[in-house]
Amino acid sequence: MQQHLFPRSFKTNYLEADYGEGIYIYDKQGKRYLDGCSGALISNLGHCNRDIVTAVEKQFGRLEFAHPSRWHVDIVEEAAAAVAETASGDLDNVWFVSGGSEAVETALKLARQYYVERDGAGSSKHITIGRWNSYHGSTIGTMAVAGSMARRRVFSPLFAESPKIPSTYCYRCHFHKQYPQCGLLCARALEEMIQIIGPQYISSFIAEPIVGSTVGAVVPPDEYWPMVWDICDRYDILLIADEVMTGCGRTGKNFCVDHWDVVPDIIATAKGMAAGYVPTGGIIARNNIVEAIKDGSGAFMHGHTYNGNPMSAAAVAAVFKYMKEHGVVENAAKMGELLGAGLKKIGEESAIIGEVRGKGLMWGFEVVKDKASREPFDKKTAAANVVTKACIEEGLIIYPGGGQIRGTSGDNFMTAPPLIITEIQVKELLEKLKNGIKRAEAALVK
Ligand code: PMP
Repeated sequence: MQQHLFPRSFKTNYLEADYGEGIYIYDKQGKRYLDGCSGALISNLGHCNRDIVTAVEKQFGRLEFAHPSRWHVDIVEEAAAAVAETASGDLDNVWFVSGGSEAVETALKLARQYYVERDGAGSSKHITIGRWNSYHGSTIGTMAVAGSMARRRVFSPLFAESPKIPSTYCYRCHFHKQYPQCGLLCARALEEMIQIIGPQYISSFIAEPIVGSTVGAVVPPDEYWPMVWDICDRYDILLIADEVMTGCGRTGKNFCVDHWDVVPDIIATAKGMAAGYVPTGGIIARNNIVEAIKDGSGAFMHGHTYNGNPMSAAAVAAVFKYMKEHGVVENAAKMGELLGAGLKKIGEESAIIGEVRGKGLMWGFEVVKDKASREPFDKKTAAANVVTKACIEEGLIIYPGGGQIRGTSGDNFMTAPPLIITEIQVKELLEKLKNGIKRAEAALVK
């Protein structure tokens, strides 16, 4: 039979999903898989949560769509208020979109328009500084500011490259230094780049608080975010935190920047925002940015058909209500401690795990051939994919191996289960992962 669906990859043997329940997905043969990466860190409340399904169904029967350029719909305001309540400082203004890439594009455009509103049409502030080893989305604009080589290489002739600084990646430090003696050269690199280009040309700096898909849950030193916040502040540059993956409770705080008491100018978020129930993303902006537009041209020159649609809003409002009523973020912090301790032990005992790192319920692994020298496996081995496949045999889904060590994928993977995971389920995940890694080790270490 001819298949009409254009798959993501013609080389992947896809699992046949039947239904989901809590932190599990069942295939058509009835085999149960623990969703150990919440899809792609999306399904924060697990699958088929009745509260969310009911709320979305209710909205479906009431009003499924009303164009945002004409209509104000109460549920959208309710969802925005619920999101803003969780963001710190005066991050009070929410703009909804349909996913992470759109959220980042929105943040970049908002940063540019802010300076035009504030300083006039002649403002030269338009450049966004990004980082290597970063992922900000699949659209042309987001690829330009990101440094995920494997995903951009084919398309790079299509966009105007943004300047990049090295990201925090202590295990394979760009400067070949050790923390803390390094003096955080990776943060100082931002100031140097600003001085080279000239702050009058720069509108924003964008970074993931914990690097997600490119190198697998790389947590920066505690000083990093306060330092880049201070640099941005001193040079009058907006700080954009890409919390598409790390936001909405994933790391055990509402937003990841809260770990360091940093209030960025704009947060871009998505994934956990509607937890996979309806495609949704959004930005949260500080008051001065929105005030500049209000007092200036009066309208953000941006918009998509599905911005702030009632179905997404119903899901967002229900997700945030559920998280508040069930202490989901607190659970993520508590279960994260347990999971992290167990994962570190697995890493220590394994011959192929060079580092285990993470926060809350977002954990990454570096797969290496040699733990002492940190040498990765041969590129063709795609070592992390071997682990991923071995885990699937154990009934555990992990975030498929990525890795930017040599500009290709294959050396990192992540586990990031739904934030509703229980203690017993954490133990189940650990057991399955341990067995999966052992299987992979047997295949990789000859
Ligand atoms: N930013 C980050 C940090 C992400 O992890 C992702 C998705 N993996 C995106 C942006 C893009 O989001 P989307 O796939 O929803 O467009």
